[in-house]
Amino acid sequence: MEFLIILFIISILYVIFLPQIKGYFGERVVATMLSGLPIDQYKILNNIMLRTEYGTTQIDHIVVSVYGIFVIETKNYKGWITGNEYADQWTKNMYGKKYRFRNPLKQNYAHVKALVATLDIPEDKFIPIVVFSINSDIKVKTSKPVVYTGQLGRTIKSYSDIKFTEHELDGIVTKIRLANVTNKDAKKEHVNQIRTKVRDNNLKIAQGVCPKCGGRLVQRRGRYGVFTGCSNYPKCRYTNNK
Ligand SMILES: [Zn+2]
Repeated sequence: MEFLIILFIISILYVIFLPQIKGYFGERVVATMLSGLPIDQYKILNNIMLRTEYGTTQIDHIVVSVYGIFVIETKNYKGWITGNEYADQWTKNMYGKKYRFRNPLKQNYAHVKALVATLDIPEDKFIPIVVFSINSDIKVKTSKPVVYTGQLGRTIKSYSDIKFTEHELDGIVTKIRLANVTNKDAKKEHVNQIRTKVRDNNLKIAQGVCPKCGGRLVQRRGRYGVFTGCSNYPKCRYTNNK
């Protein structure tokens, strides 16, 4: 009897969380596919949450490369998928039953806009891609890439126009990591870096060294009393009121 009750509870939980479970595995499959891309050329970020003016937005995968920033939305749906670029909703048709869902191209475009705002990088450097699982049959008319999981790597590699220099990539990745709401460690690290910098500067000032240029600090008398300035003035305009 107890066993049946437990089984019943598990079944109920399974049904309730099925969309999340499916979504999780769908994302894992894509994350595994992406990890097959050359690691020195493509930097992969999974499950990023950004703050926007409307709250937060969750992005399944971001791939940062010199060929652009790929923004990937995954849909782990079964059945026929119909819709077009401009429709607000698309339809999945399974065993004669129709379900409507938000146009994933529009959903992904919102992700691009959040990244444009976060990174201050123009929209044309982003490449949004929508990925459906192989269990679905895509019947969608669109000029933007809507592909199956198995085509994702090839689709990404088909972009070969250079949009960033190699040394810009680390900065972009770091910025996304720091903006990621769920990544508390990265935020802590960022705060620590600032603290260390402040401590270093205070130490330099205490030793009479300019924190800006490394020159010698000197006492000066100004209109508002005595202040500390840099001996390299006017080349260096560092001052403090200590
Ligand atoms: Zn100075």
